[in-house]
Amino acid sequence: MDASSACFSSESDFCSDCGSVLPPPGDQDTVTCRRCSHRTQVTEFLGKYVQTSVIINKLDTIALSNDADDTGALNGPLIDRRCSRCGFDKMVYHTRQMRSADEGQTVFYTCTQCRFQEKEDS
Ligand SMILES: [Zn+2]
Ligand SMILES: [Zn+2]
Repeated sequence: MDASSACFSSESDFCSDCGSVLPPPGDQDTVTCRRCSHRTQVTEFLGKYVQTSVIINKLDTIALSNDADDTGALNGPLIDRRCSRCGFDKMVYHTRQMRSADEGQTVFYTCTQCRFQEKEDS
């Protein structure tokens, strides 16, 4: 079935269960997600663009909350503050100046245990 790989190789599609990128289809008529083992019919592949765009919006939201990892948030000063997710009482904080000076700065608190991040505008 060389035709199928040529047909699908330029597309990436996403698992409707977990949002992972699915592997390219092989000889079989289903594709199995590597992360959650959810199976997708190959015949559904081409009709799934609407659903794909919804998943991309979801990823944007997730990217915002993961921002702390990119900015090295755990390098900041350690304070006694209880994480509202896991209850650990040591968090690191750092501040970030917003675009306009009038808006003041935003304080980010990051849990050192689970990396949950909270934001406070000052
Ligand atoms: Zn999956
Ligand atoms: Zn935590």
